[in-house]
Order: sequence, then C-alpha cells, then structure tokens
Amino acid sequence: MIDRIFCDVDGVLADFVGGVLKLFPDSSATHTDITEWNISNCLGVPNDEVWRRVNAEGIEFWGHLDPIPGALQFVRGLEEIAPVTFATTPSRQPHSAAGKLGWLQYHFGTKRTDGNVVLTSQKHLLARPDTALVDDKPENVGQFLEADDVCAVLFAQPWNGTITDFVSVENSQKRTLKVLDILATVEPAA
Ligand SMILES: [Mg+2]
Repeated sequence: MIDRIFCDVDGVLADFVGGVLKLFPDSSATHTDITEWNISNCLGVPNDEVWRRVNAEGIEFWGHLDPIPGALQFVRGLEEIAPVTFATTPSRQPHSAAGKLGWLQYHFGTKRTDGNVVLTSQKHLLARPDTALVDDKPENVGQFLEADDVCAVLFAQPWNGTITDFVSVENSQKRTLKVLDILATVEPAA
C-alpha cells in the first residue's frame, strides 16, 4: 500500500533535455542522442557552457520548458493510487527554483502545488515506509530503495536506458498505465 508518491519533474514531467537542446541550435542532437546523464558529453561541449547558456536564459528557461507528452495524464494516474508530491532539484541559480515553481503552478494548478513541492537533490531523505518515488535519475532511485518498505520506479529515458537494475517503465505513451501497474502491484521492498 502506497500512501504518498514523490514525482520528479525534470525528465519525467518537464522536458529539460529538450530545453537544453534548443540552446544549441547548431547541434543536430535529439533526445535519443542524449544517452548519458551528462548532456555536455553527448553534445561535445564543456559542461560549463551548457550551464552558462541555461543560466543566461534566467527564469524563462525553467518556466518555458515543454511538458513531456502525457505529463498531466501521468500525474492524474499517479493520483489515483496515492497523493502526489513534486520533488525536484533546482540548479544553483535561485531563479531555477522560482521558475520550476511557476512551471508546476501553470501546468498542474495551485491546488496541486501549494505547499506540495519539495526542492531537494536528496530525495532519499523523503523515503519512509509506504512511499514511492518516480524519477529518471538512477542514483535517486537506487538511494530511495535503500529505505525499508518503499517503491521506486525509474522513468525510462534515453539517458538512463542502459540501467537495468531497477523496475523501469518504457518511455512511451503507455507509460501511465505501466507506472500504475508497477505501483499498484509491486510489493514494498522488504
Ligand atoms: Mg529528473
């Protein structure tokens, strides 16, 4: 029985990678070319340059990310299982946190987001019995699963496609049903 689902934002609901790719118009890379967590390696540019361009956009970068297709449907599906709390990692720049909050309010409404957004990279600190995490970062899933009686689902994306250690859902239009199936049927880890 799951009584709270923590849902990651970037890479699960918000198209962070797509936002970065728009900052490199000379690159022909698409989402499927981003096959590792470090986008800069895939683009062949220094990591500092990626973040210089992201930060130069200010709050607009975070506030204008495209939703990942089916994001609202996905959250609604999660809500059928348990209340959902958004858990997201802001960048070092304060405008990232503000932009993320505005993005969530715009796409999911203040009824869902008021007092219901956790800004942290330490998502394992949220883990307690009967909680679940949906995240596209393998380390977050792995650390969350170290707690007792929790469930965590790796949201499959090209940048985590080689990870096979965790329960994973396909990155397709069927993702909602698959996550629902997983969260509804997987017994909490012993
Ligand atoms: Mg993420």
